[in-house]
Amino acid sequence: DAKESGKNTFRFYSSAMHPAAYDTLVLENDLRNAINLDQLELFFQPKVNSDRNEIVGVEALIRWNHPERGLLLPGVFIPLAEETGLITEIEKWVEFTACKQNKAWQDAGLRAIPISVNLTADRILGSDMVQNIRQVLKETKLNPSYLEIEFTESTLLKSEHGVIAILDELRSLGVRISLDDFGTGYSSLSYLNRFRGRIDTLKLDRSFISELSFADEAESNFITKVIIELAQHLKMSVVAEGVETEEQLQVLKDYNCETIQGFLYSKPIPAEDFAVLLEKGK
Ligand code: C2E
Ligand code: MG
Ligand code: MG
Ligand code: MG
Repeated sequence: DAKESGKNTFRFYSSAMHPAAYDTLVLENDLRNAINLDQLELFFQPKVNSDRNEIVGVEALIRWNHPERGLLLPGVFIPLAEETGLITEIEKWVEFTACKQNKAWQDAGLRAIPISVNLTADRILGSDMVQNIRQVLKETKLNPSYLEIEFTESTLLKSEHGVIAILDELRSLGVRISLDDFGTGYSSLSYLNRFRGRIDTLKLDRSFISELSFADEAESNFITKVIIELAQHLKMSVVAEGVETEEQLQVLKDYNCETIQGFLYSKPIPAEDFAVLLEKGK
């Protein structure tokens, strides 16, 4: 053990670091095979209109059923996928699987709702994203208005002009656009104005929601209230992310934010479970 080995401590630590690097290498190798081995899965979380208590959309969130490590969340492997370039293949799988699933629900007679997928900056700006989306829509026969792309402010920072051109192409296909995690990045209000007419929906980040106070005129609620009003002014709809309590819901209703996503309604769940939820309509 390190304490007992005295002057060998350094060697102990340096050899102890190898397993971590080795671990990443193994995970990377596993990830390379995850698609072929059918280990990736999409989970689904509803977006709910809180006035009508009705599901108005669904977000697809990736999971990895790792044979030894169990169900892995995207935070564990999406950064690795980005570093290694595996992200392109993974996102293609996500794009296809989400569209295919949504069409299957429609074909099964469930109410038609848009499905959203999360794409990284590199995928949005990558050369074949729009072409792949076009192909996937054709192949799955999903009406483009039932597909939505979620991207984050970090994508805007990489190439504003690039993103504008791509959003315009997507919109001309009839696909919807959401700006995810709004308010957490280096967003400037002038961005929003320049993206007016190109972004259908702002997703207000969970950090704002968790700070909401039930007390009247609470200081911490002010920014949230103003963002909602601004979005409405810019003709964008607003989805509140990470809503967990009735109190948060009440404050959001008071601010006229009717579309709600969060554990209060449902966690992300497997496809079969989501179909049951959608069938019940609540
Ligand atoms: P996101 O797009 O902002 O998704 C929302 C995350 O918040 C999800 O975590 C969801 O499970 C979680 N969440 C939803 N409601 C609540 C709530 O009420 N309370 C709390 N505490 N959490 C809530 P998840 O599934 O772990 O995904 C994390 C992030 O990974 C996503 O953030 C998204 O940026 C990324 N991601 C997910 N799927 C994909 C994918 O297919 N491709 C890419 N590139 N990124 C993905
Ligand atoms: Mg998202
Ligand atoms: Mg988000
Ligand atoms: Mg996020």
